[in-house]
Amino acid sequence: METMLKVDDINVYYGAIHAIKGISLEVNKGEIVTLIGANGAGKSTTLRTISGLLKPKTGTITFEDEVISGTAAHKIVEVGVSQVPEGRRVFSNMTVMENLEMGAYIRNDKSQIKLDLDKVFHHFPRLAERKKQEAGTLSGGEQQMLAMGRALMSAPRLLLLDEPSMGLAPLLIKEIFEIIKDINKEGTTVLLVEQNANMALSIANRAYVLETGQISLSGDAKELAASEEVRKAYLGG
Ligand code: ATP
Repeated sequence: METMLKVDDINVYYGAIHAIKGISLEVNKGEIVTLIGANGAGKSTTLRTISGLLKPKTGTITFEDEVISGTAAHKIVEVGVSQVPEGRRVFSNMTVMENLEMGAYIRNDKSQIKLDLDKVFHHFPRLAERKKQEAGTLSGGEQQMLAMGRALMSAPRLLLLDEPSMGLAPLLIKEIFEIIKDINKEGTTVLLVEQNANMALSIANRAYVLETGQISLSGDAKELAASEEVRKAYLGG
């Protein structure tokens, strides 16, 4: 298997707080990998370090054999990594269409952008129906879809998703996770952070369990979902 992302022994601090304590992980091309763990375990911090919003104090992050730790966040988007932040953060005063156009701001390939826009509307028909609507007036689920669509408009090879299920009703969560699977099948590698471990493990190939800034377990997603230890701690018995 071809390694796409390699996180090698990173340490991340918020001032004096040592949030990530020597995490190493890998994502292979074509996979869905999930990072699960309790509130405050360091899942978002890990994701934000990969996307360049935070810098590791020590350790290295490599994407397709290029070192990206220390690279500016907008450059990391250019090399092919795009993040959907926790809490969506769409541009609420802009329309759906304008938000999607913002996602493509790094690109010049007009005809390919148009094809990717069609792809986004194919995955998220509700966005197509609401092109001219202000993003701030969308429902929570629609905003999640828009945040994902916007990230896809940069044509990432690796998509980082931070808690896409947050605050959504079970049916909508199912819908979003089906779409994540489809996006992956069409060739985008996915690193997914989730508190909803059940859902995340059900679509992932592999998983890492985070506990207070360290990886406590890792392995095949189905095996982890079946393990007593994981079930007790994260899957409600
Ligand atoms: P959640 O699901 O609640 O976001 P998480 O697993 O993503 O949890 P992080 O948000 O990465 O966890 O937080 C990891 C640790 O770093 C926590 O102890 C948290 O309090 C701390 N932390 C996060 N952001 C900051 C910040 N901006 N300043 C100081 N400490 C922070």
